[in-house]
Parts: sequence; structure tokens; C-alpha cells
Amino acid sequence: MTRFNLRRVRLAPGQEHREALELELPAFEFGGQRYIAVPEQVAAELVVTRTVSGTLFTLAFEARLHGPCYRCLGDAVLDVPIRVREYQAAAPDDEELRTPYLVDGELEVSEWARDAVSLALPNKILCRPDCAGLCAVCGENLNEHPHEHESAASDPRWAALDALRDEL
Ligand SMILES: [Zn+2]
Ligand SMILES: [Zn+2]
Repeated sequence: MTRFNLRRVRLAPGQEHREALELELPAFEFGGQRYIAVPEQVAAELVVTRTVSGTLFTLAFEARLHGPCYRCLGDAVLDVPIRVREYQAAAPDDEELRTPYLVDGELEVSEWARDAVSLALPNKILCRPDCAGLCAVCGENLNEHPHEHESAASDPRWAALDALRDEL
């Protein structure tokens, strides 16, 4: 897990510190499936900016996730560009002005990164935008073996049901 010790930087208000990090990305649970960052370590830039009233953190990196496609369960690869900010007030009376990722002077960068990626994910992770999915009748992969079944294909109610299911 990647952490950044804030005691390493002493900044006056208005100053900033830029740090190039090797960020370790934990595995993600999404929609009951497991997604893994490949590579597990990515280059990230952390910027720490002192303001008059606190400290601003900016984190930027790009993650590449591998995992099952929502429709066909084949391999899906997803690039997720991330740029997020957190703020910590110097005198945090207000919970709102505190970042949960700052613990005992250390910024929990990996945890922050994982949450940021989770929030940035699309509703469905697909192997390709037009993935045809699995056949509802026989379960075969429709990308590899496109086919229709007579009874299902001729009944317009099935199409309506498929469209509805895709929206859920
Ligand atoms: Zn697919
Ligand atoms: Zn079929």
C-alpha cells in the first residue's frame, strides 16, 4: 500500500510540493466481480499545496483494469484516468473539511486511489461497447457465434425484455 508521509514536506502558505509516486493499486470489487489493475503499480503525481487555511491534495494517474465483461463474462479491459482532490483544514472543526485519507500525518494514497477509481467506473464494464453478450436461450457467446433461435427471434416481446434488462 502506498502512503505519503506529510512530515517530509514543510510548506509555507502558497507553496506546493510535487511528488512522483509509484502507486500500488489494490484489486477492486465491482458488481460482485473482481477487477485487477494491470500493472498493479502505476506512475502517479501527488501535489500538496499549502493554503492559508489548510492543505490541498491533488492526485493524478491512469489505471488499466482487467476483469469480466458484464454481458459475456469475457475479458474486459478498461482505462480509467483519474484526477481527484482532497482538502484538509488546518483547524478542522468541521468534518466536511477533513479528508478521511489523512491518518497520523500520513496520506493513504492507495486507499484514496481505489475509492477514486470505484467512483469513476461506468455502470457496466464491457469487453467492447457493442458486446452482444450471451444468448438468453442457450448461453453461447454471441460475439463468437452470432445466431438466433427461431421462436425467440420472431417474438418481439423478447427484444423488449432484453432492452429493459440492459437498462437495469
Ligand atoms: Zn462482452
Ligand atoms: Zn443460442
